[in-house]
Parts: sequence; structure tokens; C-alpha cells
Amino acid sequence: MTLFLDVQALGRLVNTQGADTFMADLLGYMEQDFCRWPEFDKSARTAAHSEVGVIELMPVADHNLYGFKYVNGHPSNPNQGLSTVMAFGALSEVATGYPRLLTELTISTALRTAVTSVMAAKALARKDSQSMGVIGCGAQSEFQAIAFHAILGIKELRIFDIDSDAMDKLAAHLEAYPDLKVIKADSAKSCVRGADIVTTVTADKAYATILTPDMVEPGMHINGVGGDCPGKTELHLDVLLGGKIFIEHEPQTRVEGDIQQLPDLHPVYPLWEVIAGKSIGRESEQQVTIFDSVGFALEDLSVLRYIYDLATQLGFGETIELVPRMSNPKDLFGLMKATQ
Ligand code: NAD
Repeated sequence: MTLFLDVQALGRLVNTQGADTFMADLLGYMEQDFCRWPEFDKSARTAAHSEVGVIELMPVADHNLYGFKYVNGHPSNPNQGLSTVMAFGALSEVATGYPRLLTELTISTALRTAVTSVMAAKALARKDSQSMGVIGCGAQSEFQAIAFHAILGIKELRIFDIDSDAMDKLAAHLEAYPDLKVIKADSAKSCVRGADIVTTVTADKAYATILTPDMVEPGMHINGVGGDCPGKTELHLDVLLGGKIFIEHEPQTRVEGDIQQLPDLHPVYPLWEVIAGKSIGRESEQQVTIFDSVGFALEDLSVLRYIYDLATQLGFGETIELVPRMSNPKDLFGLMKATQ
């Protein structure tokens, strides 16, 4: 039988742990997977683009497990009461192809994206980082804020959005974290001034320039999350030219990331090699480091593995007959007739 978790079940599962503990534990799974990067069969996701958004399929596998995610990105969806990003996915056994888990991945994508950001910042940001500026206060923003506070020890957060209601929503949710000082900024510039880490997590199907060179200070780590699609970027070209850029799966990021603005030969560095201790990340306290996050299938495999282990251990979700299991596997017709 296949374990099934819908949005409600996944929400309850996360709440049993608390979002901060859930993300801290997920970080362990993800670092483990990134250290085994060469063992995975990887490909850039398949994307169906339209003028208003994109729908993508993201598969990845090793010798034991296969995972995939269906995910969309439609920046104008909130105007219709829908999320910009919505997702679900599955985890299967490679040996038989049997699906072990079918689950919501919308909340889980926000959790894994924040954990990926923290994993990168833990490896690349200055060790004394205490403050972060967040531009974009939409669906992803709480997860980013909580992960950076709970796991990386960020103590001061400045936030900005062109939508003041979104800023108020983020600030209200973060009241649950009294050790985190939250300041609402009146512009993107004041949001990032003096910050150790800058997270851009906006949504606009455009070559946006959320971060311009005059806003970047020596030693900053930039966590660019929202530029994740052809024709959808956040960082000014000169910001990219001024920093050391780290990426997930290069063939995918060259097309989707902020680095789509750069020539193909411009050097970028694999994040996994830094996580696995095979190469160095930041070279000096003054260097600007950039994580050009687009979201890669391996991060979804990590969250699928973690959800499966945790839900099985705690008895969450329901089991469903998603694919048949028959006494005579050749008698599919007989199975169908028996359901009448
Ligand atoms: P959302 O629509 O809920 O929120 C986006 C916010 O950005 C909105 O509140 C909007 O007002 C704000 N915004 C837009 N333009 C702005 C500007 N110029 N200055 C300040 N704020 C601005 O979207 P979301 O679900 O939070 O996703 C945010 C982005 O992250 C999207 O672009 C999405 O595609 C991307 N994303 C990336 C990953 C990844 O792995 N890299 C994963 C999930 C989502």
C-alpha cells in the first residue's frame, strides 16, 4: 500500500515537531544527500512555459529510491486566490517501481527551499552573520525567516515587500519568535543596508532588479530564491559579476537561475562540493557570495525521504491502493471486474 498525506496531514505532521525542529532535522537528510551528489541520476526539470507561468516535473533517483515532484510557478495566481507555487510528489522503490509515498509538496517545498537556503548559507556566509534582510514577504518568507533564525542563529531580520499587507502578515507570524528582532523596512535599500545575509524571494515574471550593485556590501551572502525561471530574475547583472556564485545542478541553473543573464562560460561553483568538503566556498571575509537558488529535485527527494520516515514512525497519513497488488499479477482484467 502507498502512504498518502494531503495538505492537512502534512501540516499536522510538521506541527508535531514544530517548523523549526522539522527543518533542522530535514537539514540532516539534505546534507547527507548532497554529500552523495555523484551517486544520483540527475536531470534538469522538464518545464512547460506559458506567458503567465510554468508547470514543471522534477525527477531524481539513486540505486534505491526514485522521487519526483509536480510543481507550478504562476506569480499572478494570488490575484485569483491561488498560491504562486503548488506541488505534490511521490517516492518509489527503484527495485520494483512500487510507489511508497504520495504527498502534498506545497508546504514541503517551502520547508525544503528554506532548508536549502540555510544549508548554502551555513557553508558560504560569514560565520559571525547575525542579521538578514528579506525582500519579498509572500508564501515562502516565513519558512526562510524561521529557518535562518532557528538553525543559523540570525537575530535581526529586516523585511520589505511592495505589498504592506504581506509585510504585516510575515511580522505577525514571527511574533512567535521573541528572540528574533523584526523590523519592517520602508524600502528594499533600507531593508538590506548593513545586513550580513540578503534573501530575495519575490515573484514577478520579469527581468527584475530587486538587488542592485549599490545595495551590496563587502562580505554579504546573497540568497537569491525568486529568480528561478527563464525570463524571471532578481539580481542585477553587476551584482552577479561582483560575487562568487554557487549553484545546484548547473545545466538547470544556467537556463533558470539569475545566471541566465551571464555568458555560458562565466564561472559558477557547485554547492554540493562545498557541502561535501571537496572545495572551499567563501575565500575571504570581504568576498560577496551568491547562492543562485532555483530548486533542484534532490532537495525534494530529501524532504520526501524525511516525510516518509517521520510519518511512518509517528503513524501519520493513510494507506491507499494507488497501484494494484493482486494474487495473480497477470489478471488485471479480473481485478477490474471484481471492483464492480
Ligand atoms: P508569493 O507570490 O507568495 O510572494 C512573492 C512576494 O513578492 C509578494 O508578496 C510580492 O508582493 C513580492 N514582490 C514582488 N515584486 C516585488 C518587488 N519588486 N519588491 C518587493 N517585493 C516584491 O510567492 P512565493 O511562493 O513566496 O515565492 C516567491 C518566489 O520564490 C517565487 O518567484 C517562486 O517561484 C520562488 N521559489 C523558488 C524556489 C527555489 O527553490 N528557488 C522554491 C519556491 C519558490
